[in-house]
Amino acid sequence: MIKIAVVGAGVGGVVCAFYLARNGYDVTVYERCSLDDVTYSWHDDIAVESFKDIGLGMPPENLYYPKRNWTFVPPLSTMHVYAGLPQPTDVSISRRGLLHWLVAQAQAEGARFVFETEASLWVEDDLVVGLTVDDQNIPYALVVDNAGVDSAIRRALPPSCGIRREAYRDEVFCAYRAFYSRREGVSVADNETNRVYLLHEGGKGISWCIADPTQPTVDVLIGRLGDLGEDALATLLAKLREDNPILTDELTSGGAVYRIPVRHPAWRMVADGYASLGDSAFMTIPMLGSGMAAGMVAGRILAETVVDRQSVSKEALWHYQVAYYDYCGAEHCGVDVMKRWLLSADPADVRWLFESGVLSADNINAGAAGENIKLRFGELVQKGVKGRKRLGLLLKLSGLLGDCAKAVRLARRIPRVYDPAEVEAWQAKMEALYQ
Ligand SMILES: Cc1cc2nc3c(=O)[nH]c(=O)nc-3n(C[C@H](O)[C@H](O)[C@H](O)COP(=O)(O)OP(=O)(O)OC[C@H]3O[C@@H](n4cnc5c(N)ncnc54)[C@H](O)[C@@H]3O)c2cc1C
Repeated sequence: MIKIAVVGAGVGGVVCAFYLARNGYDVTVYERCSLDDVTYSWHDDIAVESFKDIGLGMPPENLYYPKRNWTFVPPLSTMHVYAGLPQPTDVSISRRGLLHWLVAQAQAEGARFVFETEASLWVEDDLVVGLTVDDQNIPYALVVDNAGVDSAIRRALPPSCGIRREAYRDEVFCAYRAFYSRREGVSVADNETNRVYLLHEGGKGISWCIADPTQPTVDVLIGRLGDLGEDALATLLAKLREDNPILTDELTSGGAVYRIPVRHPAWRMVADGYASLGDSAFMTIPMLGSGMAAGMVAGRILAETVVDRQSVSKEALWHYQVAYYDYCGAEHCGVDVMKRWLLSADPADVRWLFESGVLSADNINAGAAGENIKLRFGELVQKGVKGRKRLGLLLKLSGLLGDCAKAVRLARRIPRVYDPAEVEAWQAKMEALYQ
């Protein structure tokens, strides 16, 4: 029986282990943390429809509650752009509850979990041959790397695999996440409970303050590209408190800085006997960094690829990457173009685009959900007329939307079959778009 190892009990890795075990594979999942400590203690957002694509039904109802809609706060602005009624399709789900539910299902199919154990990659003659665990080399036909954005497994790959081992500095958000008690006697308007600050205080990143009335605490995130210094964090927290009087300084949980990839998916996710999955393959939506849904669906696609092809060669595993690009990866390439522009744009320009009505909350919501904004130049000008005309900026935006569409088109032209020269040529074209 083919032996497969998954490194990291993230949601995608566990879904992959579930489907592999169900199909008779010998699967072991190695996780550095204990089952009680793995993943996060808080709730995060996910679109309900993604559970259809994961194929395991809906998680138990006590694990989630309806997510309220975002209100966007443009940079350097006091204006708030409300995104409309709450979307019944999104829920906030308990991260640990979801993971425990998935682990139980994978175990029921026969997948083995080894917690509190760190694994490293075993490479011989430039080939991935297994893992080293507790100083012992264990051969595996396939190593599924679900070890996160800074995966040591990916970093240990031989250069001959052609897989970039590091994310660039500006492709990762450093995000402070914390929960504070609510200030007594302060209420928040129904359409202002979930505020996202774009280019908060003119910096490269977003912040949020979520004061959902059904929750006991106020949820704060401050994310910046590259790094988040202590002084910057203190200033941004103080600004959030100024704007959100409900936010106290009494920390109830969280309070650390985490790293989230915010970029297009990896150009190469597979090698002989190796496949990266989840944050290790940069599968998050580049605008806000959501990655649970994409990682879980990718886990299923990977398992089905192995089962269908009966092989773990890079040629066979390439189908997994193609199917992932078809599913959402190509679309994320376009969203990454938009995100890079938004984060490098003059905050005053971004403010004007909102104030003039050229960009709506729905447009940003689409980006946050991993979809590209589709507006023709004529529509842009028409919208821009409502405010002061800024033809130069509208042209720039129109060009940008064209670039997003081009990135998606090109990404969809991923070679359907693994051919080294074609893959290299496609990768070079994609890379050129982001330089
Ligand atoms: C603050 C914050 C907010 C977020 N909000 C959302 C959201 O609202 N919606 C959403 O969909 N996503 C959100 N995300 C992103 C989401 O957490 C990830 O995209 C998703 O969990 C997939 O991550 P992963 O499992 O690939 O990697 P990780 O979550 O990083 O998991 C990797 C696992 O591998 C283990 N590991 C690493 N190296 C080894 C090793 N050598 N041996 C053994 N084990 C190892 C780690 O202990 C860890 O458990 C958020 C992330 C953060 C940090």
